[in-house]
Amino acid sequence: MFQDLRVVDFHAHFTVKGDVSASGGGVRQYAAGSPAAEQAAYLRAQSERYRAAWRLAWDFPKPEPERESGQAAVDALADRWVAELDRYGIDRIGFATGGGNDTLAHAVARHPARFIGFAHHNPFDPDAAAEMQRAVTELGLRGLKILAPALERRIDDKSLYPLWETVEALGVPVLIHFGMLGGGGGISWNERDNPGALEPVCRDFPTIQFVVPHFGIQYVKELLFLCWACENVNVDTSGSNQWTRWMPYSLTLEDLIRKFYETVGPDRILFGSDSSWFPRGFSIRYLQDQIRACRFMNLPDDALRKIFGDNAVRLFRLEGD
Ligand SMILES: [Zn+2]
Repeated sequence: MFQDLRVVDFHAHFTVKGDVSASGGGVRQYAAGSPAAEQAAYLRAQSERYRAAWRLAWDFPKPEPERESGQAAVDALADRWVAELDRYGIDRIGFATGGGNDTLAHAVARHPARFIGFAHHNPFDPDAAAEMQRAVTELGLRGLKILAPALERRIDDKSLYPLWETVEALGVPVLIHFGMLGGGGGISWNERDNPGALEPVCRDFPTIQFVVPHFGIQYVKELLFLCWACENVNVDTSGSNQWTRWMPYSLTLEDLIRKFYETVGPDRILFGSDSSWFPRGFSIRYLQDQIRACRFMNLPDDALRKIFGDNAVRLFRLEGD
């Protein structure tokens, strides 16, 4: 327990060597091809400058060099994550990515009482629906994670409908990142990054629970309207939410929680940390800040239990586990 709460972190990353899908990392998870070497080096240097400043602002330690890949390294990383959860009293953690479906499933199988894994393959792959079926029924994953700005087409593209049909039949939640992607030097805008585009999909698949992370980032307005239009849209609170710095008006963590709480109530807000790298490990500061904001707002205990754990338990169907 953390304080008096059973905490389930809905959104973190099991970052293995060569994995560029973690927050703040690379932004080309799905797209084929890569920028020219010179351009890539420039972007990398810029990103490193931004990340160094961000790390100092939060007083986070320097990331460790990339670990070796392979099964022994995955096992060691999994055990390290469990030690982090135990250290802070976190009940379970959902890994949105983890080096591919098979690698992440391997890690989850090592600690099934503590880990939940999302499938995270390219939804536009011709066999994406079949892979989704396999990821859940054979590998034991319990959700699907998509980075909308990194897709080759928009999220409402009809070619994704077989995948949505499979997801609907499986009854698992879908976590879709919209808005700016990556650290400094990442994608600030493109025609695929607006959560408003999800509305027809939400209407056509009303039993799928969609979760948009980070309060929708710069599309906080569009996400609030989408939540109003479609009851199957949820929001996660994950990450540093540093993006509020680039909004043209003042927006605090407390403002965001209050606005979404007023709009969707306590059942559709999920705590996430977006934890991803060591030696930082579980990003306890984000949890502490969010707990403080909720307590200062005098949210009822029942709402806190839902936001920090019970909503994730319901979406992942963990009751009785
Ligand atoms: Zn993330």
